[in-house]
Amino acid sequence: MMYETIKKDFPIFKHHKDLVYLDSAATYQKPSVVIGGIQEYYSQYCANVHRAFYPTGEIATEKYEEAREKIAQFINASPEEIVFTRGATEGINFIAHTWGLDHLKRGDDIVITQAEHHANLLPWQRVAKRTGANLRYMPLNTQTHLLENPTDHISQITKLVSIIHSSNVLGHIWQADDLEQTIAKAHSVGAKVLLDSCQTSPHQKIDVKKLNVDFLVFSGHKTMGPNGVGVLYIKKELHDDVEPYQLGGSMVHSVAYDTASWAQAPQKFEAGTPAVASVIGLGHAIDYISKNINFASLAEHETKLSMKLYQELQSMPEVSLLGNPEMMKEHSHLVCFSIDGVHAHDAASYLGAKNIAVRAGHHCAQPLANLLGVQSCLRASIGIYNNEDDVTHFINELRDTITFFKR
Ligand code: PMP
Repeated sequence: MMYETIKKDFPIFKHHKDLVYLDSAATYQKPSVVIGGIQEYYSQYCANVHRAFYPTGEIATEKYEEAREKIAQFINASPEEIVFTRGATEGINFIAHTWGLDHLKRGDDIVITQAEHHANLLPWQRVAKRTGANLRYMPLNTQTHLLENPTDHISQITKLVSIIHSSNVLGHIWQADDLEQTIAKAHSVGAKVLLDSCQTSPHQKIDVKKLNVDFLVFSGHKTMGPNGVGVLYIKKELHDDVEPYQLGGSMVHSVAYDTASWAQAPQKFEAGTPAVASVIGLGHAIDYISKNINFASLAEHETKLSMKLYQELQSMPEVSLLGNPEMMKEHSHLVCFSIDGVHAHDAASYLGAKNIAVRAGHHCAQPLANLLGVQSCLRASIGIYNNEDDVTHFINELRDTITFFKR
C-alpha cells in the first residue's frame, strides 16, 4: 500500500495543502471516487429507487442494491441482512425502539459497558425506564482502562448485551478473548448481542459470522462514505422478531384502511425514500477500501503512527494519557489525552488556527469521562492518509500550544 501517495485520492488535501487532519474517528475524509459517485447519481441517473419504470430509475435501483451487496460482502453478511439507516445512532435506536421495547420486560437485564458512546447508552436508558428492565454495566478498570471480567455480568436474566467494539476514547478495551467470550456467554443464556462497530469499520475486517452477533451498526461517514447513511446488520433469523422502526412508503406488502402487512426484509425496515446518493456513495467507499486496503498492513501503519503519538505525548510532563498502551501496541488508531492546566477546547482552537484538526470534549461519553475523572480531553485519530510528518507537525505545534497557555 502506497501510504505516501494515498493523500492524493482525498481532494480535501488539495484544497487545504497544510491541513493536518487528525480527526478521522469523528469523520473520515472522502476519496474522490465517493464524491464522484454522488455527483454521477445526481447528474446522470437521479431518480427514486424501487418505484421507477424508466431507465434512470432502473439504474438508480440497480446501483442502490449493488451497494447493499458490496456492504454485505464487506462484513460477510447476506444482502437482506443489511438495512440502511441514517447512521449508527439511528441503527441502535432502531433496535432499542423495536426489538428492545417489544421483547424486554421487568426483571430482564440489559448489559452494556461503562465505556459506551451516548448512542449506545441513552436508547437503553429509555428502554429500561419504559419496560422496567435493569440497565447494568460491565465495569471498566480505571487504572488499566480495560474491561474487568465482563462475562461475570451476564446471567440467566440477561436478555441483551449491547457493546462497543472499540472505544472512541480509549481504543481497544477488551482483553485477550474477552469479547468472544462475552458474546458466547450472552448466547449461552439466550441473550441477543448488538455490537457498535463505529470505531472498527474503517480499521479492521468485520465478519458478522465470526463475531457471531445478532445486530451490528456502523456509520458510513466514518468509513470513508458520505454523511446521512449508516448500516444496521440484522441477523436473518431475527427478521420476524424485529418490527419496522418506521412505517410508510416502500415497506409494505399490502395496505387497507384498517390493516397492513409488510414486505420482506430489508424493504420492511426501510420506510420512505432512502438516502440514495449516500448509499451509492458508501458503495464506492467500500469499493475503494476493498481495492486499496489490506487491513493487516493498515493496522501496522495506524499503530506505528499512534504509538509515535503516544510516546511523544508521554514525554511531555503536562500531558496525561488515556487508554492502555499495551493494547495500543497491538492495534490503535487514536490517542486521547488531557493537558494539565489547559482546557481541551482552548488547546483544540489554538491548534485549529494552525490548521491542525483534533477533537476536544467528552467525546459523547460523559459517564466515562466522569468515571476517569477527566472533564474534557483531546483526541488525535489516524486515517489512512496520515503520515509521520503529520504526527511530527502536530507534536511540535502542541508543544507550542502548551507553552502559549502556560505563559
Ligand atoms: N458509537 C461510537 C463508538 C462512535 O464513535 C460514534 C460516533 N462518534 C457513534 C456511535 C455515533 O455515530 P453517528 O454519530 O455517526 O451516528
